[in-house]
Amino acid sequence: MALIVQKYGGTSVGTVERIQAVADKIGRFLSEGHQIVVVVSAMSGETNRLIGMAKQIQDDPTPREMDVLVSTGEQVTIALLSMALHKLGIDARSFTGGQVPIRTDSAFMKARIEHIDEQSMRGDLAAGRVVVVAGFQGIDPEGNITTLGRGGSDTTAVALAAALKADECQIYTDVDGVYTTDPRVVDSARRLDHITFEEMLEMASQGSKVLQIRSVEFAGKYNVPLRVLHSFQEGPGTLITVDEEVDMEKPVISGIAFTRDEAKLTLRGVPDTPGIAYKILGPIGDANIEVDMIVQNVGADGATDFTFTVHRNEMAKAKKILEQVAKDLGARDVLADDKIAKVSLVGVGMRSHAGVASRMFQSLASEGVNIEMISTSEIKISVVIAEKYLELAVRALHAAFELDKPAS
Ligand code: ADP
Ligand code: ASP
Ligand code: MG
Repeated sequence: MALIVQKYGGTSVGTVERIQAVADKIGRFLSEGHQIVVVVSAMSGETNRLIGMAKQIQDDPTPREMDVLVSTGEQVTIALLSMALHKLGIDARSFTGGQVPIRTDSAFMKARIEHIDEQSMRGDLAAGRVVVVAGFQGIDPEGNITTLGRGGSDTTAVALAAALKADECQIYTDVDGVYTTDPRVVDSARRLDHITFEEMLEMASQGSKVLQIRSVEFAGKYNVPLRVLHSFQEGPGTLITVDEEVDMEKPVISGIAFTRDEAKLTLRGVPDTPGIAYKILGPIGDANIEVDMIVQNVGADGATDFTFTVHRNEMAKAKKILEQVAKDLGARDVLADDKIAKVSLVGVGMRSHAGVASRMFQSLASEGVNIEMISTSEIKISVVIAEKYLELAVRALHAAFELDKPAS
C-alpha cells in the first residue's frame, strides 16, 4: 500500500465527463489498496475567464480581490470530483486551501507556502477517505485567501506530498511525460524516461510550463519522488530524479525550452563609466521589475548601449522608468521590443562537453536566425531571437542536437 498524491490539470477536469473519468481512475488506484490525496486545477480556461471578467471592470484590480476571484475555479472542481467519487460509492471529502489548511505568506497572486498542517488529512486517509484538495490556493496569517501564481496546482501537490511524506507525487496532464521540447511545437519531440531535478528546474525556469518552477524547487528540496503522466493514457511517464546517470552516452542536451514572455529594452548612447549598470537597473529594481538577461557593450568612444530583458507585461512600465533615466544620464534614446523570444538548451551533459554553444550558433546561422542576446549557466545556454523565428529555431536545434533520436 502506498500513499500517493495525484494532481489533475485543467484539461483533465475540463468537463463533467472528464471529472467522472478521473473519479474512475482514482477508484482503480483505491482498489489496488493505495491511499490517495487528489489535487485538482480549475476546469481548463476557467482561470483565464475569471481574470478576463476582472479586467473588464478594472485594469489593475487589487491582488487580494483577484485571489478571492481566481481561487473559485478550483472550488468548483473539488466539489464536482468529490460528487463523482460518491457516485461510485467512494468516500471522499473536498477541502479548499484554507480548510486543509495550507498556510502561505501574504504575497497575493504569488504566495509562497509556509506550512501545511497534515493532521486532519491523515485522519481522513485513515478513515478510508479520498482527500480532494483545491490546487493553487492557501490562506495567509490574517485569514485571507491567497493563490500561488499561474500553474500553482503543481506546487500544491508537491507540497502536500512533502508534508505527508508520500511515496510519490503524480502530475497527470494532457501529455504523457516531459518531452525533449514542447510536443505542440516539434512533432518529433520525444518523451524522456527521466530528467534530473536540476534540468527540470532549468527547463521550467526557461519557459517549459509542463511543471510550475516552484513545484520542482519544492520537490528537489524535500526529495519528493515526482512523476509526470498522461491522465487518460497508460504509460510510465517521466520520473524526475536526483541522480545524474553515470552514462557516457548520455546526450549533451536533454531538452529545449522557450518562452515568448519577455521583452527587450535598450538604452542607447549611455556614458561608459563606473556605476552605470546600477544607475540603470537600480530604478528598475526599485519598481519591483525583475530583470532576466543583461548585455552591455564595451564603449568604443566613451559611450555604450545597455540592453536587458523583463517580463512582457512590465515592458511599458520599465520603458517609462528608462526614459527618465535616459534624461538623467544624457543617454541618446530608449528602444523597447516585445517581438522577441528566448530559446534555451538545457542539459547536465554540457558540463563535460565543450562546443555546445558553437554548435548552437552554427545551427541558428544556417537557418538565417540572428542572435540578439546570449546568456549561459553551467547547464544551459539561452539566446534571444526575433519571435517570428522561434519555431524554426527550436526545430533546427532539436534536429542539430539529435534530440529526435532515441537515447542509446
Ligand atoms: P495542466 O493544465 O495539466 O497543468 P499544462 O498546460 O500546464 O497542463 O502543461 C502541459 C503542457 O505543457 C503540454 O500540453 C505541453 O504543450 C506543454 N509543454 C511545454 N514544454 C513541454 C515539455 N518539454 N514536455 C511536455 N510538455 C510540455
Ligand atoms: N488554475 C490555475 C491556473 O490556471 C492553477 C493551475 O491550473 O495550476 O493557473
Ligand atoms: Mg500546468
